[in-house]
Amino acid sequence: MKISILTLFPEMCNAFVNESIIGRAVKSDKVDIECINIRDFANNKHNKVDDTPYGGGMGMVMAAEPIYNAYKSVVGDKKPHLVYLSPKGATFTQKKAIELSNCEHLVLLCGHYEGIDERVIEEIVDEEISIGDYVLTGGELPALVVADAVCRMLPGVLSDDICFTEESHFSGLLEYPQYTKPAVWNGREVPEVLLSGHHANIEKWRREKSIEITLDRRPDILESAELSKKELKYLESLKSAKHDI
Ligand code: SAM
Repeated sequence: MKISILTLFPEMCNAFVNESIIGRAVKSDKVDIECINIRDFANNKHNKVDDTPYGGGMGMVMAAEPIYNAYKSVVGDKKPHLVYLSPKGATFTQKKAIELSNCEHLVLLCGHYEGIDERVIEEIVDEEISIGDYVLTGGELPALVVADAVCRMLPGVLSDDICFTEESHFSGLLEYPQYTKPAVWNGREVPEVLLSGHHANIEKWRREKSIEITLDRRPDILESAELSKKELKYLESLKSAKHDI
């Protein structure tokens, strides 16, 4: 997979994509990530990429032409899928990360200032994605959030697929609590079942904890979780215990 990030701050994006798990994935050719400076595509003496908004108002707007030219520079034979990071977009989810991980070429467009000229959105953008109901100064952090979540879904990026299939949001449940050595820390013990070596019991405990935590923190996502008959019964018992309190 190839990811092209169109940005006014390529150094900021490069610093992130060269580190940790994503950095290793890039080095081992599991993913190709390029950070393109939109300013390099401004056709004027001072490399100006923004201007005042028509109709008046505060701030500056990124002009269409440099963005369009930056986009053209990354397009190969096939049209890539272009995402504009925007607080007006649909909220990013794990499901969307999985969907985007199937793209051959994903282009992430970062806005700045008051945003970008609407006409370039109409011309090249396939979808707008928001990372949450708040406004950041630029699209770089949102683009890196999307790139990180997408890269983790690519084959071979994590040590094993189980790393993400058991994680929060993958199956509609939040993850069970995790523990590591020592077995007792500050007088707090690791749940005994995790030390038992009994895999079936550990699996059952983890699923039940996931159900408990999801019911407690995100009951809205429980609807879409795939639960066995026994687990549904367990969920009902938790709900009625909650009701009785
Ligand atoms: N004036 C715009 C509005 O009210 O919708 C906000 C522009 S914001 C200051 C500048 C850029 O940051 C946007 O063009 C977008 O690329 C990015 N951005 C800010 N918040 C975001 C969010 N929650 N999700 C995704 N991108 C965001």
